[in-house]
Amino acid sequence: MPLWTQPCLTSEETYQTVLGNVRGLLKKNPDADFISITQNDGDGGACKCDNCRAINEAEESEMGTMLHFVNRIAEELGDEYPNVLFDTFAYRFTRKPPKNIRPAKNVVVRLCSIECCFRHPLDDCDVTPAHDNVESFAKNLREWTAIAPNLFIWNYTTNFTNFPVLFLNIEALRKDVEFFARNDVNGVFEQGNIASLNGEFGELKGYILARLLWDPYMSKETYAQYIREFIQDFYGAGAKYIEEYLKMVLDNSKDAHFGIYFDDPTQYVYIRECQTELVGKQEFVRRGNKLFDAAESAAEDDITLANVRRSRIQLMDYMDFTIRAKIEAAQSEEEKQALKETLVENNEKRFMYMRCYNVTHNHEFHNFESLSDPDYETHCLLWKCPGE
Ligand SMILES: [Zn+2]
Ligand SMILES: [Zn+2]
Repeated sequence: MPLWTQPCLTSEETYQTVLGNVRGLLKKNPDADFISITQNDGDGGACKCDNCRAINEAEESEMGTMLHFVNRIAEELGDEYPNVLFDTFAYRFTRKPPKNIRPAKNVVVRLCSIECCFRHPLDDCDVTPAHDNVESFAKNLREWTAIAPNLFIWNYTTNFTNFPVLFLNIEALRKDVEFFARNDVNGVFEQGNIASLNGEFGELKGYILARLLWDPYMSKETYAQYIREFIQDFYGAGAKYIEEYLKMVLDNSKDAHFGIYFDDPTQYVYIRECQTELVGKQEFVRRGNKLFDAAESAAEDDITLANVRRSRIQLMDYMDFTIRAKIEAAQSEEEKQALKETLVENNEKRFMYMRCYNVTHNHEFHNFESLSDPDYETHCLLWKCPGE
């Protein structure tokens, strides 16, 4: 079956094949208590044959055929494997709950938030920067919680186009975990960058998410205290500069809506009180560099310095886009040339930091460890290894 397509779920042949595979896997793994039977990735929609279409139209959601299919497997294997939960996604075209059919008691529905804005709490913002034409996530979550005996969440905590990009979801993370808990969600997966260390605040987010998942009703004050403690321990004597930087980013992105895919962070974060957006971006770079310089100077040991510098990659990424915007606006060739030199210098330093501090990927699916001489005039996302 080609990538990004879906099988026909009303075909008996599909059913028997999947049933056989599920039975085989459970037999091979007698301790397993959870198995995923999910749609393929992609947003092309479910099978459109007459049988599938009839079910999905009656259910007013393409989850109709999916849930029929998974319920049937769960019912057939439920007696043999009473401790196993059969999991399936409510993802993209299956996100909306079906009208009539209900998940069986041993089925888990895993609701995915991929379309959403992550700058703001899911319950406060219905903007969907990553995909159009989807219903409110919070509404779908409430509908699912009313009908699903087991509701899990798959949430996204970083940018998947460009890992080191500014992705300031710190305020949303706490409120989202609380929102899940209040709505009887009984499993949460917070997906971050699994490819490598990421050059933004991945370490901080990993820590605070671990805390939140233990204590989903954590107060704002306790949460702020954990953030402060982590920053102090991780960034050492320069912690106060990193805290100030973080505050600057949060204060200057309140009206921005981030999806999980974008490359240019300067669209979302810039100093708002400046006269023009470009000036606001330059001012952000100026203040950011001052704070990171101070944090680097304050570092008292190699580990702390590495932590500060790794997190600084986000600012270098931001600078790349700002310098390019200035090149666009340049009035003379000389000015353009000088800016290009600054761009190359910034990217050389960025490459060195990524190499030294174990940031091995320039985006989700691309490891660039075999690269030794990138074209520093191009953005890091375009860097290719030899032979590619
Ligand atoms: Zn079909
Ligand atoms: Zn938003």
